[in-house]
Amino acid sequence: MAKKITLTKLNPHINALREMAMTASEHAYSPYSKAKVGAALLTTDGNYYAGCNVENSSYGATVCAERVAIFQAVSQQKKISIEYIYIYSKDGWPPCGMCRQVLSEFQSPNLIVIIGDKNGTKQIVRFKDLMPMSFTPHFLLKKG
Ligand code: ZN
Repeated sequence: MAKKITLTKLNPHINALREMAMTASEHAYSPYSKAKVGAALLTTDGNYYAGCNVENSSYGATVCAERVAIFQAVSQQKKISIEYIYIYSKDGWPPCGMCRQVLSEFQSPNLIVIIGDKNGTKQIVRFKDLMPMSFTPHFLLKKG
């Protein structure tokens, strides 16, 4: 059973993250699925980044909103550690497996994943509960 998340620390950020994710979703390039997804993240050092899904006629080249937001952060900061990520879609979709793996690469120890739909914030979960036993850089960077 997952521990209940205390919202005190999260509350000041949740509206900003939701707003950024919703705005990003409006820029989605999704002519095939018609799904508009936006993601916004906050790094542990206080920087916000957002992204939308970008589809491609060669479907495998499609990139989800979460990864676009993460890559945006990586391209602008030397090292990122994600504290919160808000994922917005009309129906409140959770992150796919590939995005969970990419999140595991840049997660802070207490990464919180927030999922919102058209009616508001739907779920708030710890990344550790969303993807237990994830394959992290720790395994490859482990010394001797
Ligand atoms: Zn994804």
